[in-house]
Amino acid sequence: MSDLHSKELRLDAGHLRETIRRAAHSLGFDLCEFATISAAPHADFFDAWIDAGRAGEMSYLERNRNKRRFPALLAEASAPPFRSMIVLGVDYHQFDLPPEVRDDPSRGLIASYAWGDDYHELIRPLLYELDAVVRTQTGRTSLGKCLVDTGPVLERDWAEVAGLGFTGKNCCTIRPGMGSWLLLAIIFVPEVLVGERGSSARPLQSPISNLSISQSPTCGRCTRCLDACPTNAFVGAYDLDPQRCISYWTIEARSIIPRELRPRFGNRIFGCDICQEVCPYNRRLPERTPRIDGLRALHNRVAPLLLEGFSPAHPYWLDPRAFSEHFARSPIKRAKRAGMLRNVCVALGNWADTAAIDALALALADADATARAHAAWALGRILAKWRYQQAAMLLTTALLYEEDERVREEIHLALAM
Ligand code: SF4
Ligand code: SF4
Repeated sequence: MSDLHSKELRLDAGHLRETIRRAAHSLGFDLCEFATISAAPHADFFDAWIDAGRAGEMSYLERNRNKRRFPALLAEASAPPFRSMIVLGVDYHQFDLPPEVRDDPSRGLIASYAWGDDYHELIRPLLYELDAVVRTQTGRTSLGKCLVDTGPVLERDWAEVAGLGFTGKNCCTIRPGMGSWLLLAIIFVPEVLVGERGSSARPLQSPISNLSISQSPTCGRCTRCLDACPTNAFVGAYDLDPQRCISYWTIEARSIIPRELRPRFGNRIFGCDICQEVCPYNRRLPERTPRIDGLRALHNRVAPLLLEGFSPAHPYWLDPRAFSEHFARSPIKRAKRAGMLRNVCVALGNWADTAAIDALALALADADATARAHAAWALGRILAKWRYQQAAMLLTTALLYEEDERVREEIHLALAM
């Protein structure tokens, strides 16, 4: 390539990047950076993580390993090859939960990314709009590949390569000044958007004074997230075992939650933010309203009263249709009604208040055996705490008709608590 041609390409790429950044910002993205397609830096680590059985019930992570390693393989054979990626971030921080809400055992905490509507559904059309801006500029007729947490892509690797932020020991992408409350999305495109350095990265500055950070912010000697995890889910820094993680169990897994973990879930019924809440990069962030309207917190999605979803007026933990209506646009529907009822039973067991008995009696008669098993556990907790005979009677009666061996075992254990 002649020097002149190379300079023109750099200038054109620079102009295109600025056009894309402006369009991304006006669509609602807070961050927009670029990287050249190459092999994913942590593909070996990811493969070893999968081989160690860490994915658990997330079998989709085991597929398309080659595409995860080499994102160029994501292109259709008939389309031009991908050369660049546009890496985007949406800041979803809104406010810190007041302690009196966070610590109220009669409420079920929902991870803050799910306080509004489902970000996949909100962000995907915006990615196609942004790709259309690029196509208008370059005349391309094929579509870019638009992914928001839905494809075989190591997003955090590319966020780091592109200079969006760095990966913290809590396995989240952290942007100094913005923290780790980031939703990541990527568009793969055939255009050349960056020069020889491989990314559009600009130096990041850390506002955290007690971490020794110069040009490249890091976690330094901090271990707050690793120490604060209530289930000891971190095998080490940057290494999370999902099968001990509250987020995995309350969102991804469908099966019975290990008994020894249940008391550690507290009142978390969908996801867990603890390893982010304690991070100094997330401290004292100003309250804000997300720029994408649908992400705004809905008042009944932050920490709903656990018993509300059992009431005849709103039986969304019990009735599939009520659940579908109540969570129609929410990411919570991913956990499914029975999964959420299971999670709520765990929170009710941790509350262990006699006010929950009627709700747990309904859960003990649910069509889903996993939910019934956790209802039995929760009744056992109330029985152990209060010696409340109504709990014992419900469990003993359930034994008369319960046929599922796993539930029967939970009932026996509950009666012996
Ligand atoms: S999300 Fe919660 S349970 Fe999972 S690693 Fe973080 S602190 Fe631990
Ligand atoms: S809490 Fe500390 S160690 Fe964990 S991600 Fe934040 S800065 Fe890094």
